[in-house]
Amino acid sequence: MNGKTVMACMDAAYAALKEHTDEIAVLDQQIGDGDHIFNLLRGMEALLAVRADIEKETLEAALELAANKVLSTVGGSSGPLFFSLLNGMAKASANNPLDVAGTALMFAAGVEAVGQRGKTGVGSKTMMDVLIPVAARFKELATIESPALQKTVLDELPQVAEQNMLATRDMLATKGRASFLGERSRGHIDPGARSSQIMITAVCAQLARNRA
Ligand code: ADP
Ligand code: MG
Repeated sequence: MNGKTVMACMDAAYAALKEHTDEIAVLDQQIGDGDHIFNLLRGMEALLAVRADIEKETLEAALELAANKVLSTVGGSSGPLFFSLLNGMAKASANNPLDVAGTALMFAAGVEAVGQRGKTGVGSKTMMDVLIPVAARFKELATIESPALQKTVLDELPQVAEQNMLATRDMLATKGRASFLGERSRGHIDPGARSSQIMITAVCAQLARNRA
């Protein structure tokens, strides 16, 4: 994995988000202020604009560059959170061999950094409700010894992401803008959970294509 892998994953995530623009805009209109998808797309477009700089880097430097670009272009709550994910992954990538277990630890470190930044875990109806269970299952799967482990991981993580994204519908929001709605936040999927799930699914599909 290197800068080219990062860019290929970003391309896949961007295309998938773009396809779901209207849906995610509506989710954030229902329990937020409607800007979530546009914040994300702006950040991803800034990344795509520095493609050549990212592609020539090592994994660590590419993730760090992407993190900084995101921080300076994505607004809202999700900008600093997305920065923390990429930056946390960049830092951990230096210490881990990038086999399945190392990649799982790298992702978990990114998610932990988001948790520290946003000061929340599972159950507050945010992107963490997708990120934490995916990171946990990733680490668990990485302990299995199987020649088909990569395929298992890439098939299963999108399912974990989807189940947990759907589960945010019935939750009460206790963090971020949606928490201002109190009980009225129930009955709507969290936009950050949906965008995270879409990106995880797209990145897994991209990595599966890379393997093939
Ligand atoms: P804003 O709420 O400032 O308009 P965005 O619309 O870009 O920011 O992002 C909203 C998303 O950010 C929510 O759907 C939720 O998933 C996520 N979020 C909000 N607060 C937190 C937090 N403290 N920790 C993790 N995620 C959060
Ligand atoms: Mg918003």
